[in-house]
Amino acid sequence: MSFHSCKKESCDVCNSHFMKLQPLIKEVIITKHFERDIKDQEKIDKIVKKVTDTSHTEFHELHKYEENIDDNIIFRAKVGKKHILYCVTKERNIIFLRAIRNYDEYKKLLDDKHMLKRMLNISC
Ligand SMILES: [Zn+2]
Repeated sequence: MSFHSCKKESCDVCNSHFMKLQPLIKEVIITKHFERDIKDQEKIDKIVKKVTDTSHTEFHELHKYEENIDDNIIFRAKVGKKHILYCVTKERNIIFLRAIRNYDEYKKLLDDKHMLKRMLNISC
């Protein structure tokens, strides 16, 4: 599977990347960090459902392809004012990593490959 690099907020190609991965997803993993970012189990469930369910109308803003790190595919979802960072791993689990309100902060995290790899290793 190859992925395009994308600067758009919402994009059909990114969506189709996710559509190809979605049927392969085995398990949903929520990191401690993500729990701390959201702090509300009900909201967490809602976000997870929104991102993993491909049949609703807000679909286009939820699967922005960001990065492929050793076949771990990183996506961003925009839910309300939050940027949700999640990953479909090599093993094809979906991991919810962070929910960050500030885009610059989000970007900083995304640029920090070391940190990303560490987060993936911890949660995989
Ligand atoms: Zn795209």
